Amino acid sequence: DREQARLKAATPGSAAMYQRARRTMTLGVPSSYQARDPWPIYLSHGRGSRVWDVDGTEYSDFHNAFGSMVQGHAHPAIVRAVSERVALGSHFAMPTEDAVIVSEELARRFRLPQWRYVNSGSEATMDAIRIARGATGRETIVKIFGSYHGHHDYVMVSIGAPYADIGPADDMNSLGYGGGIPSAVVDLTVPVPFNDAPAMERRIERLAAEGRKPACVIMEAAMMNLGVILPEPGYLEAVREITRRHGIILIFDEVKTGLCVAPGGATERFGVAPDMVTLAKALGGGLPSGAIGATDEIMEVVAKDKVKQVGTYNGNPLAMAAARASLFEVLTPEAYTHLDRLNDRLTAGCDEILARYGIPGYTVGISSKGCVHFTDAPIRDYTSFMAHQNEALPLLAWLYNANRGVLMAPGREEEWTLSVQHTDADVDRYLESLDAMCADLTR
Ligand code: PLP
Repeated sequence: DREQARLKAATPGSAAMYQRARRTMTLGVPSSYQARDPWPIYLSHGRGSRVWDVDGTEYSDFHNAFGSMVQGHAHPAIVRAVSERVALGSHFAMPTEDAVIVSEELARRFRLPQWRYVNSGSEATMDAIRIARGATGRETIVKIFGSYHGHHDYVMVSIGAPYADIGPADDMNSLGYGGGIPSAVVDLTVPVPFNDAPAMERRIERLAAEGRKPACVIMEAAMMNLGVILPEPGYLEAVREITRRHGIILIFDEVKTGLCVAPGGATERFGVAPDMVTLAKALGGGLPSGAIGATDEIMEVVAKDKVKQVGTYNGNPLAMAAARASLFEVLTPEAYTHLDRLNDRLTAGCDEILARYGIPGYTVGISSKGCVHFTDAPIRDYTSFMAHQNEALPLLAWLYNANRGVLMAPGREEEWTLSVQHTDADVDRYLESLDAMCADLTR
């Protein structure tokens, strides 16, 4: 209550903006994931690792637009690229050279030869699934329990964890999520547990026996929407082997991991090659963008116009200019060395603080990404996440952070994202905030 009162007192400008916004924008926000109790923090601008709210308060940004801003805010290379491009015309719905250059670089990084563009992660996974269905002639798809792949109907099935502060009574536990999603679509999406290849294979065999062999398995190689859950040794290799043996397309959804955990994403980091990759978020460095990579064989259905992969804003020149600058000037091999070093310091610092105060919990980190799981139980899938997550501590940590100049994404299933412009001073802020919370809890 004290921390909540402190946040309220520090954000009168956001409170006033919220009162005004609610009259014309539902819940006062453009997207329900931006809603917060008692009101959202409205931002005015960002630079480097920092953002400022409408009250003028500065925060070290660990939210980073749900991981879109691994480049940091207003990176000079991206500002330059987008400014130059906008002066030359911002959209034609005709291809530009930047789209060609970005495709060449993505093909090199992700070792998939064919690329197409969209404008968000949801569009990327939606089109990837349609292409997989078109390429195999099958309708059922397999996903992982608790994984989030965007807001279209195919994948709003068994997503995330329930929490109270996101808005009106959404039951994220239910298999279908929310109203408006036809049960006929939900029935085509079959979830299986993460880190359990035998369970995946048993489910695939059962589906095949029922005449419902899946078109694809869509999954994150490391789960980024239940905090961070890493794949156990051998798991991804087993999934690769099972999907190949059964003739099922393996899609790595790298909307959060791609360009954030290695130059070639989780695909490079874990050394397991999927048949398709979806990218978004960090690709555009803050401009709406997304991409789908696939083998020549799979993309043939698009090349032969058997599957439509279309969109007026696909390959938008501003997004492609930002992506080109990101790939060649910002997200360089040195950038990942910097992210790895900072994240190692942050995860080790968090673990040291939890141990010092005897607070149950441990830290998981991978390059720019990480989180604290407030439990000593191993979190390896949705079931263990739900069984062992502490209800109160992640929300309290969010409040402690906000009151101490550290901005995190709301919700206990979110992780932090560092940017290439973060420094040790940002990491120190985060550690000081966690230390203050643990000290108060054990006082
Ligand atoms: N896939 C994953 C793994 C995501 O985390 C998200 C968004 O958080 C999406 C897809 C959807 O991306 P977008 O919000 O850009 O539609």
